[in-house]
Amino acid sequence: MTTLDGQPVSEVARADTATQAPTGEPDAYRQAPAQVADRLGVDPGVGLSTGQVSERAAVYGANRLSEPARRPEWLKFLDQFRNWLIGILLIAAVVAGAIGDIRDAVVITFVLLVNAVLGYWQERRAEHSLEALRRMLVPTARVRRNGTEQVVEAQLLVPGDVVLLEAGDRIPADGRLIVAEKVEVAEAALTGESQPVTKSVTAVDHTSTAPVALAERTSMLFMNTALTRGRAEMIVTATGMRTELGAIAEALRTGTEPPSPLQVQLDSLGRRLALLSGVAVVAYALSALVRGESLSDVALQAVALAVAAIPEGLPAVLALTLALGVHRMARRGAIVKRLAAVESLGAATVVCSDKTGTLTLNEMTVRTLWTAGRLYDVTGEGYGTAGAVRVHGADDTSPTDDLRDAVLPFALCNDAHVTDGVFIGDPTEAALVVLAAKAGVDADWVRTELPRTGELPFDAATKYMATFHTEPDGRTRVHVKGAVDVLMGMCTDVLTEDGACALDEGHRDEILAVTGQFGSTGLRVLGAATALMDGTPSKFAPAALPGLTLVSVAGIADPPRPQAREAMALCRMAGVAVKMITGDHADTAAAIARELDIEGDVVTGTELDRMTEEQLAERMDDIGVFARVAPEHKVLIVRTLTNRGHIVAMTGDGVNDAAALKAAHIGVAMGITGTDVAKEAADVVLTDDDFSTIVRAVREGRAIYANIVKFVRFQLATNIGAILTLFSASLAGLPSPLTAAQLLWVNIIMDGPPAMALAVDPARDDVMRHPPRDPRERILDARRLFAIGRAGAVMAMGTVTLFAVARSYVDPDTALTMAFTTFVLFQLFNALSARADDGPLLDRQQFRNRALWLCLAGVLAVQVVVVHLPWAHTVFGTVPLTVTQWALCLGTASTVLLAEFVLRAVRPVLRKAGVRF
Ligand code: ATP
Repeated sequence: MTTLDGQPVSEVARADTATQAPTGEPDAYRQAPAQVADRLGVDPGVGLSTGQVSERAAVYGANRLSEPARRPEWLKFLDQFRNWLIGILLIAAVVAGAIGDIRDAVVITFVLLVNAVLGYWQERRAEHSLEALRRMLVPTARVRRNGTEQVVEAQLLVPGDVVLLEAGDRIPADGRLIVAEKVEVAEAALTGESQPVTKSVTAVDHTSTAPVALAERTSMLFMNTALTRGRAEMIVTATGMRTELGAIAEALRTGTEPPSPLQVQLDSLGRRLALLSGVAVVAYALSALVRGESLSDVALQAVALAVAAIPEGLPAVLALTLALGVHRMARRGAIVKRLAAVESLGAATVVCSDKTGTLTLNEMTVRTLWTAGRLYDVTGEGYGTAGAVRVHGADDTSPTDDLRDAVLPFALCNDAHVTDGVFIGDPTEAALVVLAAKAGVDADWVRTELPRTGELPFDAATKYMATFHTEPDGRTRVHVKGAVDVLMGMCTDVLTEDGACALDEGHRDEILAVTGQFGSTGLRVLGAATALMDGTPSKFAPAALPGLTLVSVAGIADPPRPQAREAMALCRMAGVAVKMITGDHADTAAAIARELDIEGDVVTGTELDRMTEEQLAERMDDIGVFARVAPEHKVLIVRTLTNRGHIVAMTGDGVNDAAALKAAHIGVAMGITGTDVAKEAADVVLTDDDFSTIVRAVREGRAIYANIVKFVRFQLATNIGAILTLFSASLAGLPSPLTAAQLLWVNIIMDGPPAMALAVDPARDDVMRHPPRDPRERILDARRLFAIGRAGAVMAMGTVTLFAVARSYVDPDTALTMAFTTFVLFQLFNALSARADDGPLLDRQQFRNRALWLCLAGVLAVQVVVVHLPWAHTVFGTVPLTVTQWALCLGTASTVLLAEFVLRAVRPVLRKAGVRF
């Protein structure tokens, strides 16, 4: 990141802090946590009270960085005139006025204004849609206030707030660490340091008074950096513009999004077309001059032709289509952060989806428990504690001490809180708190009785979590919960009916049979283990864990999402492969995959480790489920798929998923369960975490692409039509069939409402019945270019022929009006033909876009006005037409659509004869 004068932010930050500390609490990093808490008037165990929060909010304001000044609306409107084409038109208007051609001067000025209004409106709408999207991603923070944990909007934080953080969280303000368990922070955004930095609660540099560089303030967390590992609590020391980031925010340059591949493609296409039109216009002007037409007439006509021939409105309609498209997606739960992702979504060939929470509901309920060689059934639903733990097949419901011991690790090695059926924290952990309650253990109570002295936070890579507690006799008890296969590797003993005994092969087989049985019914399996240690370990690290005793195994139900099966079928129909990628056990994953109809083999992370990339590539098409994978496997899977030419959408939620989300063409983060880090790395954020939303987004992506094709075809066909019309008339020795004013009028129609109506066309019903488009395909391939040329040629032929014939029967003004009307009406049929692209020309779908039909009716009505109202006669040089003449114009104009009908009829015959187009 650089500042406006190109200096790395890190350097500015260092320079700033070397001279002055911009935070409200300059020396918090030197002080002990208790001192900081004292100074900020907060008890870290309770947090601020509601009264304190509102008082401080009034003093410190919102925890927000001030936004860069907005460009005033009137300047944005004037921006529309900052375009070389508009410049030429302005000159033309002045020239026309100067030579006394007031009519054309007025028309050109009018066109300029309409163009500017249209462009301004399109940009504003696009901007508003994107702004609304940004507002949907409101950052939140977990705080302790009034003695309870709650989630609040990050902008409502005040100094003194106690913020609770876990791996993957974005730090919402500057703060002094008061709890730090294995904390690592990515501070690259602030200090330029690319490696994660280890942080601790230890105060920095007690003795010296010299300011310490930001990167060395290891007891502080800074706004907008991210916790990549561990668990932390901090007291907010500075908010908003008083934070370290705030101090340099003003110097930050806000990056603009680079253009998407499609925008680049269309830009270069536009430029080539502009060049071509330029050559055509010059050639046309020269030939007209040679024919002896007056210079002023020719100049005006040439400018008008240039305007009609150059697709200058294309970028604006493209921006609008993308913006409205992503707005529609957002309403359906998929927030697109990078416009380019829309294109990739439409071309996606593989969706790699997490299981938990995306394909399943993430509504965890422990159904069954195994402990000391016995199986128990757990009754009750959801996160309410009503229910019981009964010996399998028996009616006994009273919890026993054995049962309480069996669930104790689940209650203590756990960060979730459940109150009245509502939980804060991880759903799996909440389900275990509920299990403990049903077995007679109140998690909150035991956590106060046996406070935690240390922990190893859960990590998707290690698949377990451990906590350390001091026993009344001074010894340390460690509780561990995690994947059973991992735990078994850490256990030396197992709890049996006769107490703890050495874990032998027989026990292993029994436990594997239990987990296999749980897994095969789709239950998530989690084990609990414990051990007593003498004294307190010097440091809480995996190496400090003693041999454990496996205590119990829980089977947790997490039902598949009801719509997931249907979405899966849609993917199959659309030729999009789905691969489930999960950290869960292979049996559980396979059972859920079966329920959802995900086809293919199940491969585990261990098997993946044994394969070479070539072997994986070979098997890739046959694999449907990757189970027990670590986050780094996701990167390997994405890489293998992309190397095989796939366009990959990959979901992720954890901090370790960021690399895979970035590597995929479309990184999809979970909005509810996803960490801030994953959301940041992603291109799309799902507000409902639902797999079917991804499939809907793919559908929308395809529809948006199809709409872009439609209006590009529509606009370019009109451009080509205008050039060819004037050229062929000139070649035929006829005067121009379209005056400058008329050409400009056509230009308004082309850039205006009909093009925009095509941009918001609803998706065709069969949009998911085709295989994905080839991502290498250019938007205008030979087939579409031919179609555009064809439409342009038909328009030119129709207009010029009618003009030539009419001139033999009626006066020149009527012939001119007929030619003009025909060319305008051609655009109505051209819109319908472009809309169908390669699909059926006249079916139910053609009548589904009400906006388009309204626009077309509007264009027709205005054309009637232009032809029949006297004041329009002076502007456009038109005269009233008879009904027959109108019918002739309409008939001729319809040929652009009729030609497509004929073509579709003869195409199969020609194909058989070996002619392809
Ligand atoms: P997904 O399908 O989205 O990858 P997952 O929850 O199945 O999600 P992870 O979160 O990586 O995958 O979990 C992997 C394994 O780690 C789980 O199968 C479970 O055994 C164990 N596990 C999950 N959550 C916890 C936790 N909070 N504490 C301890 N172990 C956990």
